[in-house]
Parts: sequence; C-alpha cells; structure tokens
Amino acid sequence: MLGWLRRLWTVPATAPEQARTRQKFLFKANDAILSFCRCEGEPAMSGGQLDCPWCGCGWMIACSKCSKSFIFAEVRETDVPLIELGRREVARRGLRGVTEQDIADWAEDMAADLAPFAAGDIVAYLDGSYFRLDATDIEFDGYYAAHKLARLPHAEALDDPPRLQALLGDRRYWLDRERPDRA
Ligand SMILES: [Zn+2]
Ligand SMILES: [Zn+2]
Repeated sequence: MLGWLRRLWTVPATAPEQARTRQKFLFKANDAILSFCRCEGEPAMSGGQLDCPWCGCGWMIACSKCSKSFIFAEVRETDVPLIELGRREVARRGLRGVTEQDIADWAEDMAADLAPFAAGDIVAYLDGSYFRLDATDIEFDGYYAAHKLARLPHAEALDDPPRLQALLGDRRYWLDRERPDRA
C-alpha cells in the first residue's frame, strides 16, 4: 500500500523533470541509398549547406565524427544537452571564432527544428529543413530553392536509389527553382 502510494506521488513529480533533461537530436540511421560515412549511430553535424546544394550539402546529412555524408537520420532522445553536442562539434572540427552564445543559439534553433518530431522518426534533410520519410505535399522555400514535391525524393528513392542523385544531384533542379530573394 505504501509503495503504491509512493509511486502515485513520485511519478508525476519526476516525469516532467526527465522531459526537461532529455533532448532530441539526430543520429545516423543507416547507409541506405547513398552514404560516404562508415560510422554507426554517430550524432549528425549541424547544417553546413553552401552555395552548391546539388553536391549533397543541400540534401544529405553530415556525420559529426567523420564529416562525411549520409541520407537518413533517426531522431533519438539523448541525455547529452544540445549545447554540449554543439561544443563537441566545434572542438572536433577545430572551428575558431565560435562563441558560447553562437552555440547556445544553435542549440535553441536545433531544438525548435526537432520539436515536431518524435523519438524514432526517420528523417532526411532538404535545403534547410528536416522531413519525415512519410511527408507528403511538401511545399516550402528553402535556403536556395522553392520546392514543391508530392513526396520526399529521399523516400521515393528507397525503391530506386539512383533516382535521388539524378534529381537532387542535378544542378538544374536547383537553378530552375532558385529563389530570387535568397540570401
Ligand atoms: Zn555543396
Ligand atoms: Zn561518420
């Protein structure tokens, strides 16, 4: 009886605390379709999209350990605070001039980006955003281009892997959709 009562009291008290300390982050899911990274389950690296999204930087995810790219990441809960993951990445890559405030801002943006996802979701990256594999009617302005897609190309390519590179690895896809106002 006492044990049961204690559970009643302690469960509501500890659950929100756990929710606060566990954060979501992206970890490499697999090597499906296309992968230059041979690591397993390492954390992803924060976005490094440049002016050449077709090279893969606009549609692949980089590994924080080896910096090489893969397609699919899994949303997982981690006990490591995002800000600590950010600090580790800065240290690993030997980045200079990144302040603690920059890392805090990155952690906040990342938490907001991942808020719509649940642990266990498999996601892919496209032009500044992450999408679940089952996303449909994708219409958005990315960093580089304006996209309108019935389904995520990464998901469609699971049945036909060369299709992904043929579409998103083609400069013309991006140039044809380039945002006139992109920064
Ligand atoms: Zn690139
Ligand atoms: Zn790797």
